[in-house]
Amino acid sequence: MNSPKMCLVLFLVPCLLVLTALAEAQDGTLRRIRVPILMYHYVSPLPQDADTLRVGLTVRPAVFRDQLAWLREAGYSSISLDQLYGALNEGDPLPPKPVILTFDDGHVGHFSIVMPLLQEAGFVGTFFIISERVDARDPLHLGREQLVAMAAQGMHIESHSRSHRDLRGLDRDLLVYELLGSRESLEAWTGVAPGVIAWPFGYHDELARQVARETGYRMALGTRAGVWQDSTGLFDLARIRVNRNLTLQNLEALLRADWLEEREAS
Ligand SMILES: [Zn+2]
Repeated sequence: MNSPKMCLVLFLVPCLLVLTALAEAQDGTLRRIRVPILMYHYVSPLPQDADTLRVGLTVRPAVFRDQLAWLREAGYSSISLDQLYGALNEGDPLPPKPVILTFDDGHVGHFSIVMPLLQEAGFVGTFFIISERVDARDPLHLGREQLVAMAAQGMHIESHSRSHRDLRGLDRDLLVYELLGSRESLEAWTGVAPGVIAWPFGYHDELARQVARETGYRMALGTRAGVWQDSTGLFDLARIRVNRNLTLQNLEALLRADWLEEREAS
């Protein structure tokens, strides 16, 4: 029998696991906070030639307005990802029913439709931008002037990589190109360096997370479904996908739900 050694191993392994987890939180405290992060793509009328993907990812402006009115009525306050970071890392206080409203891919409707509706409801939004599409001056996507105007009006502009490619399996140079490249462009345009990246399609691997840390990001969002955020999971925060057919009852149920982790890709 080797029981003293076995006891030591049984004692040390959980200690090491706890210490590894603690290393993530700045003040050494593990925190798990219930902060739903809603994920939108298109908020616009449907074009005539919309394909299935576009149909599925589109929320009509009237429906979006109703969702915001419902959130307001139900007592939710929109917060920024910076506030979530402070809460997870330092224990900073948050309003009673915090929610984060995020919009992926930098569609032009985020300026012309989403921002005015957010302002009407008294909310702020966080917008994840693909910097190459801004450079390309694609009229379907936000331009520099619009990003500057949105930032000036208190909206949060963050990174969705440079080209929106799947970042898994890329070498370090390509990851730096994607992650630092978009960060520097956005900083040059808005004057604020993004601290958060939304992984394209929700995909990431260990090297992508490492290079994101090295290039100045302090949090990342995927498409993992959930409402709980954890100080040990800052590079894979959970979100709630808002799709075309989501009713207010569905949204309320999702905000109330405490489901376990579940993978899904966009
Ligand atoms: Zn995307």
